[in-house]
Amino acid sequence: MREDSVTIDNGHLKLIGKACELIANSHTVVAFTGAGVSSESGISVFRGSGGIWQKFNPALYGNLPGLALVFILNPERIEAFVREAASAFAVAKPNSAHESIAKLEHAGFISGVITQNVDNLHREAGSLNIFEVHGNIFRARCLKCGAREDLPKRRLLENITTKRNSSLKRRELLRLLDKYTGRCACGGRRRPDIVMFGEPLPRGIFRRAMELAMKCDCIIAAGTSAIVYPAASIPEYAVRKGATLIEINPERTGLTPFARLWIPLRASVALGEIFKQLTGKANQRAGKARISAKA
Ligand SMILES: [Zn+2]
Repeated sequence: MREDSVTIDNGHLKLIGKACELIANSHTVVAFTGAGVSSESGISVFRGSGGIWQKFNPALYGNLPGLALVFILNPERIEAFVREAASAFAVAKPNSAHESIAKLEHAGFISGVITQNVDNLHREAGSLNIFEVHGNIFRARCLKCGAREDLPKRRLLENITTKRNSSLKRRELLRLLDKYTGRCACGGRRRPDIVMFGEPLPRGIFRRAMELAMKCDCIIAAGTSAIVYPAASIPEYAVRKGATLIEINPERTGLTPFARLWIPLRASVALGEIFKQLTGKANQRAGKARISAKA
């Protein structure tokens, strides 16, 4: 972690002050989040150094046909992949980036959060209006009728991440995955409701996310390098429709040229400070309003 992404100096505070002004003067503000927001909860960024895609080739492990192939040729590798990915999800807790976004929504500063993350952490932090454009690993989708159902987090822990002495045979692994997702009431097999590479985004959710992006006049992109399309097009689309983009990311990204303001900090630090400043100002305003009402 770079030092400048941890500590706030006066330059950062100035940027955050400007961000607060933009947010407070906007009518509809939307947060758009990516892997950087969850990496602080211990979910390794899939891309980037130390990410899971360095150990497991995404061309094979990132899509269903590839997974099926590895499953037939080398089921032990699938087991290792599933365990590594699932363990991180099963134990992750929301961090102050998720919490600040939820608190900003409850305080009326933002209208909702569009996320590319599948880890359920925005929901756990208390956000209400959430658009999970890449799905949610703690939800199952029926392959027959399409019905979705939330799954308890502990079920992933119990079924997938438990260490075993011997490696699993193909049939056992299938049985475990089956046990995790359960069968649908219609009798159909289910799979985790996440979008893999090459798969289309869930149409209804993506359309509603786009509608919100079109409607908003300010979008806060946090912890996303915005390179996985089509979800990555959402902030660009909002900017083209006239919205102001505030970017929070320790590194420059492809979005930076579109941003009115780039805050080079970790999402947890910047969003925590934004919440503090905005609610401080809101309290001051409420105080002034009370005084003038009394006068
Ligand atoms: Zn079904």
